[in-house]
Amino acid sequence: MGASLAWALARRGVSGVVVVDLDLAGVYASSELNAGGARATWWQPVNIETCRLTLDFFRSHADAFSFAERGYLWLYDDAALWHKAREKRALQNAAGLDVEVLGVGDVAERFPVLDRNLDELVGATFSPRDGLVNPNAVRAWYRAEAERCGVRFLNRHYVAGVTTAVASGLSGPLRRVESVDVAEVRRGQPTDDDGTVRDILTTHRVPRDVLVAESRIACDVIVNCLGAWSPIFSAKIGVRDVTEPVRRQIALVDVHAGDVAAGVDLAGLGMIVDPSGLYLHPEGPHVLAGYSIPDEPPGFDFGYDGDTFFEAEIWPRLAHRASSFERCGHVRGWAGLYAVTPDCSGIAGRVGGFANLYEAHSFTGRGVMQSYAVGRAMAALIDTGAFEDADLTALARDRFADPARLVPEDLHI
Ligand SMILES: Cc1cc2nc3c(=O)[nH]c(=O)nc-3n(C[C@H](O)[C@H](O)[C@H](O)COP(=O)(O)OP(=O)(O)OC[C@H]3O[C@@H](n4cnc5c(N)ncnc54)[C@H](O)[C@@H]3O)c2cc1C
Repeated sequence: MGASLAWALARRGVSGVVVVDLDLAGVYASSELNAGGARATWWQPVNIETCRLTLDFFRSHADAFSFAERGYLWLYDDAALWHKAREKRALQNAAGLDVEVLGVGDVAERFPVLDRNLDELVGATFSPRDGLVNPNAVRAWYRAEAERCGVRFLNRHYVAGVTTAVASGLSGPLRRVESVDVAEVRRGQPTDDDGTVRDILTTHRVPRDVLVAESRIACDVIVNCLGAWSPIFSAKIGVRDVTEPVRRQIALVDVHAGDVAAGVDLAGLGMIVDPSGLYLHPEGPHVLAGYSIPDEPPGFDFGYDGDTFFEAEIWPRLAHRASSFERCGHVRGWAGLYAVTPDCSGIAGRVGGFANLYEAHSFTGRGVMQSYAVGRAMAALIDTGAFEDADLTALARDRFADPARLVPEDLHI
């Protein structure tokens, strides 16, 4: 998100943009650890619109981002959710998404790999314009383009402190962020996983023995794009965030395990979302499968549960829906952080009470597929005082004070 915004600002001619990121290599950044799903089929207009614009951008750089328009197949077994899905389809199709409604027979015919327990389904939607993207390529592209436009990226630099002052605003006194204190941590290969970056990102402290240098950066404008870490920054300036970091795990599945000659044929398929909460898509020679454990406690936890996760959560759900997954293997997996808000929509806009503080974070499981549109919209807001292209007003943080203004996004995995 930070790289997208920096690029959008630089393209508007804004100079002096600096991105400070402890983990530019992305060993722990959510942007590196996600599932690579890209869809505009949400239930909230602001999420549909930002994702639609971002998917158009991915489509226009399809080779660079390995964007594959293979669709999302979403299976339903709950009558109330299924009713809502069909209701929301009007909104989605008004945005040009061409979402289809499928009966259980259509699912069996068009997706023969799904051959088990279809009688428990009530229907499905298929959104052909959604698909899969290489999030790491997207991230690298934003960064390269931003650098080309003059943006400076400070890797292995951690924002450790913030200095604010009182400024006067039209409607009374406001605070201003004057500067941030940045700690440069021990050098090494940027992809070195020697524990330093992880320790800082889980304890939020920079130990003296890894500190290389400290510096102070004066800010005309500052944007909190710290993803799951945004509340840590906010707390430093007395702002309370509602975001919680929550672990999400993903497993890679070997579909040729057990000498099954044919393996599992997902060729040409995009994302499949099972009513059990399991999602899967082909990933090179393997299948990527994710599942969000309900009631996972919040915390900065990157531990992957390995075979336990695969055997307890992934394999049974795969085999329940497709007999060809009966015999498959666990390759490896990882855990990353969702930045979860109470309504599962992101937070973007100007931070009230401050003259020069903005934010774009907490996009739960949707940050990559919103990245282009949110970056552009935020750049316009910062540059001109108003949104252009996408209107992010609905994502303002003050909505959490008014239940009527929440943006509950239920089509969430
Ligand atoms: C398992 C999983 C699956 C997902 N699947 C999808 C998907 O299919 N599609 C999709 O669109 N999204 C998905 N997401 C969500 C998506 O990855 C995130 O919403 C998105 O990457 C957030 O981007 P970001 O730039 O806001 O945060 P991040 O990519 O996390 O970047 C925040 C950066 O801030 C740095 N940082 C933190 N504190 C400081 C500090 N004080 N000083 C300096 N740097 C700091 C961190 O090191 C990090 O690099 C998934 C996420 C996970 C975890």
